[in-house]
Amino acid sequence: MKTLFVYMGGTMGMIPSKDGLVPSIGVVENCLQKLYDTGDVLGSYEIIAAKPLIDSSAIEPEDWNWIGSQIVDRYDDFDGFVVIHGTDTLAYSACALSFGLVGLGKPVIVTGAMLPLVMEGSDGRKNLREAAFAAAKAPAGVWVQFAGKLMHGARVRKSHSSALDAFFDAEASAPPRHLATSLRWQGYTTFNIPLLTFVPGISGQFLSQCLHDADGIILRCYGAGTMPEVPEFKETIRAARLEGKPVVATSKCADGGVALGRYASGANLLSSGIIDGKSATATAAYVKTLFVLSKGQDDASTLAELARPICGEFG
Ligand code: ASP
Repeated sequence: MKTLFVYMGGTMGMIPSKDGLVPSIGVVENCLQKLYDTGDVLGSYEIIAAKPLIDSSAIEPEDWNWIGSQIVDRYDDFDGFVVIHGTDTLAYSACALSFGLVGLGKPVIVTGAMLPLVMEGSDGRKNLREAAFAAAKAPAGVWVQFAGKLMHGARVRKSHSSALDAFFDAEASAPPRHLATSLRWQGYTTFNIPLLTFVPGISGQFLSQCLHDADGIILRCYGAGTMPEVPEFKETIRAARLEGKPVVATSKCADGGVALGRYASGANLLSSGIIDGKSATATAAYVKTLFVLSKGQDDASTLAELARPICGEFG
């Protein structure tokens, strides 16, 4: 069993400094070496680290491209892959790998820690060890291993900002795999896609301004997909659609997703060309929109791809 660890940074390997926690070279590397030297984890490994290691709040789509390329370039040399990542944007990167690793046939496990390895009570060693096990045993696909749970890469979200059990995944109807006959990395470019949460009092002008400056938008609707009764919304969305900007509806609720036709308040927007994000998380809807737009297809193909599940992001 040979595992490639792709180390991006994050709390796991951080050390205290006068400015707060900062990434540090050597901490994760030492822990990993001990896990293998003591026989706690069997097999062999290599580790490749991002330069520089980063707090994951600094992650950008080009970092997803870097991680994906490392995995694809070295795919034949390893049986499984572990990505060590900060927790703040871990769910975005897990989604990005789930969509972008087209034709993946091996396990890719994303993990991190809520407390640095150098701190008492750290969850880092346990998560690293369990991620190494998962890289050997999990089904093919992109999974998040955290606090004893193996979670779907395209259905996961950070649900707690301080507890060690910080991630949660909603039920999925398909594994986190973008099926294809051969492996390739389908890369990301950067677009301006805001996530807009509806709140009582939001104005039509505000949505219009957001969409004017954006390449598309992810709407975080109330409940099953309703939104404030603002007459201009429908026209604004229709105008954005005519310009080829995707407008995707998701739910603010953690579970259940949207069902746009259920209430009149959401149903009347369907005719404006809004895309039903179904039970996708807002994170998955965002990353998927970037993924699909990055292909530079015509509007009909973009819409068709956004409407169908790619890797179990909705059922
Ligand atoms: N700010 C850190 C990061 O995302 C938090 C963590 O890793 O837990 O890199």
